Amino acid sequence: MSQADPGSVLVAGGAGYIGSHVSKALAIAGYHPVVLDNLSTGNAAHVVDFPLIHADIADTGRVVSLIREHKIRALLHFAASIQVEESVRFPLDYYENNVCRTLRLLRTCSKNGVRTVVFSSTAAVYGSPEKLPVSEDAALNPINPYGRSKMMVEMMLKDMAAALPDFHFAALRYFNVAGADRGGRIGQSYPKATHLITLALRTALGLRPELVIFGTDYATADGTAVRDYIDIEDIAFLHVRALDALFERPRNLVLNCGYGHGFSVNEVVQTVKRVTGIDFPVHETGRRPGDPPVLVADSSRAKNELNWTPMHDKLEEIIRAAWEWERKLHSMKAIQ
Ligand code: UDP
Repeated sequence: MSQADPGSVLVAGGAGYIGSHVSKALAIAGYHPVVLDNLSTGNAAHVVDFPLIHADIADTGRVVSLIREHKIRALLHFAASIQVEESVRFPLDYYENNVCRTLRLLRTCSKNGVRTVVFSSTAAVYGSPEKLPVSEDAALNPINPYGRSKMMVEMMLKDMAAALPDFHFAALRYFNVAGADRGGRIGQSYPKATHLITLALRTALGLRPELVIFGTDYATADGTAVRDYIDIEDIAFLHVRALDALFERPRNLVLNCGYGHGFSVNEVVQTVKRVTGIDFPVHETGRRPGDPPVLVADSSRAKNELNWTPMHDKLEEIIRAAWEWERKLHSMKAIQ
């Protein structure tokens, strides 16, 4: 490793949607990402330029050997189950996967000298915040097992930082991540995706008969739930900046990752129709279990701490990037 070389970093879950975009951004910034993924939901095709170790994060032997072989300096941890509604039905799977296995990974990393961690957290740790936009200092009150599992890991990280003087972490609390890499090489490719923008676009493509809107009786302007949608390229950039920040001046950071304004489900659906030019069928139904009515970030801390200016703060632009990706993904599938 030369003086200017920032070295190798372990990207757990780097074959997934967010992890693969972050790996790409890390490589552009000069880091050497080494991806660890069990490919349960990730896509090996998204890890073209970096080593991919096909193993579980709890496979201690494999993790130890890759830390040694690649001289890993930091962990970026994305490997987790992420569906709110599924977490309500299968809570123990979420605690097992997101908490127990993460504990094993953190222990292995820490024991082997990897004590700089960037963790993929979520706005779901806030539950249904009383004050909006919600700041990082708000009470954590998750309303579903997914949010609780992420909160538990944040607590572990805080406790490790208190116990070990050279352990430092950044927990990035994502709001609603969407969009795709503008180079068109990677995007959301999980076939069982449950996120609104992806499903709306797949409905526009005719891959689904209709889009279902979950809940029209929320106390919002049009009765549908409101979320803060942030572009995947901004999310990727925030990870690189957070990692740089931990190396430049070791400290602990908890940062909201959103733009600070929200759109309702109806507004998203209308924007998808406008961008695609396709008027697809929509069916309104009851609320989805575990969903809060409104989640919008106060993102001033990320802007100040990381000197971040959002690059793609425009819903139409995010949806257009996701639309280009979805069309490419499904035309490739049609040819195969
Ligand atoms: N949503 C919806 N129909 C769908 C998928 C999502 O109405 O097919 C709603 C969902 O109930 C929530 C919002 O869209 O209010 C965002 O959900 P998503 O799953 O995209 O992200 P989450 O906020 O759960 O992380």
